[in-house]
Amino acid sequence: MDLLLGTHNKGKLREYKALLAEASVNLLMLDDVGLSAFDVEETGNTFEANAALKAQAYANASRLPAMADDTGLEVDALGGRPGVYSARYGSSDRERCEKLLAELANVPDDERTARFVCVIAVAQPQTDKLLTVRGTVEGRISQAIGGGNEGFGYDAVFIPDGYDVTWSAIPLAEKNRISHRGVAARKLIPLLK
Ligand code: IMP
Repeated sequence: MDLLLGTHNKGKLREYKALLAEASVNLLMLDDVGLSAFDVEETGNTFEANAALKAQAYANASRLPAMADDTGLEVDALGGRPGVYSARYGSSDRERCEKLLAELANVPDDERTARFVCVIAVAQPQTDKLLTVRGTVEGRISQAIGGGNEGFGYDAVFIPDGYDVTWSAIPLAEKNRISHRGVAARKLIPLLK
């Protein structure tokens, strides 16, 4: 089965290629189907709604089964923000990370708990058929930008439970083993079959 991976995010692409390597699908990129300029606005209020509207839009535009995800970081001390607005919290990864650290400037370690949420949706063209799975990973927000050059997004300020370094210092294979995206992808694989 051909499956279009509906994302422009190079960090996600790299992770999904590794995560879905064992799925019995032929993974297609937006470039492969002439949709490299196609974008979908995230107008939903939940991760599920945004993942679904993106997957449906990519499936209808390509006439192929398509998957898309919506991800966000929920910070307990901020009442769950930035949540579904994680991508719009600042104008670059660096700015988003610095803004988060500034907002948490006086918050002690034990109150810096947070989690990544990833919802993946798979849609079929021209039908309402939709499959969604959700993965989460618990952790906390670091006190400063972390070391290492791995990952993307908020990886430089997220310390997953069981570690004392941020995801920017953890190799991709290890991140995929425990990440929100890894958990969601492993739920998805048997459903694709
Ligand atoms: P979206 O799902 O593309 O809307 O991503 C929401 C925001 O979360 C963006 O700012 C991403 O960079 C960030 N993000 C998504 N996945 C990860 C991750 O695995 N690590 C760090 N940041 C992430």
